[in-house]
Amino acid sequence: MPDSSFDRSIAKPLETTMSLKSHFKRIAILVWVGLFFLWPCAAAQTEAGDDLPWRSIETKHTIIRYQNADDLEAFDEQIDYSPGERGLVKSLFSSSESKSLPEKLARKIDALFERVQEILDMRKKMKKVKINLYGNKRQLAAAYQKLYKKSCGVRSWYLYEFKTIYSNVSDLHAGMMAHEMGHHIIDHYLIIRPPRATAEILARYVDKNLYKKVRKY
Ligand SMILES: [Zn+2]
Repeated sequence: MPDSSFDRSIAKPLETTMSLKSHFKRIAILVWVGLFFLWPCAAAQTEAGDDLPWRSIETKHTIIRYQNADDLEAFDEQIDYSPGERGLVKSLFSSSESKSLPEKLARKIDALFERVQEILDMRKKMKKVKINLYGNKRQLAAAYQKLYKKSCGVRSWYLYEFKTIYSNVSDLHAGMMAHEMGHHIIDHYLIIRPPRATAEILARYVDKNLYKKVRKY
């Protein structure tokens, strides 16, 4: 390599400078090696942050699980749904301000769940659905990878075996949540779980009709 030959030609006459230089070089290498080993630690610490204990809020129909309060707040902001007539009418006398975030959320999420039951005309007592909240796309993808051993290509999903909805609070809206709740309701209402394609058609019907008047048959 031309660079190293250039180095060698100046290394001999400047012995002392070089030894000083090599001293610094050694320090630089040590620092670099140190950084190299510390880097994964730093990365691991970020990952460890993701492994914070899960906290949960149990509502009438759901168990909302989250790892940090910010995610819970973001979740509340993203789910733009008001308990009441088709989720549209915001009560003038809503006491939401005086309520705590968990109380406010519980009311909203349960109302959304009951709205999905109403759209599907599938009302039955069933096991509560867990809603796992992830703060961002990367965390959601990590959860997906852990479960399915492949990279994540979806924005949210429902896993029947764990009765759990996986959602990313930075990419979520009421329709998406209603869709996933629909999967839980469909899979638990019917004695035999419908084929996946059928369940998907029904779940899509839910998010498309979330704010529309329900037809009575
Ligand atoms: Zn679906």
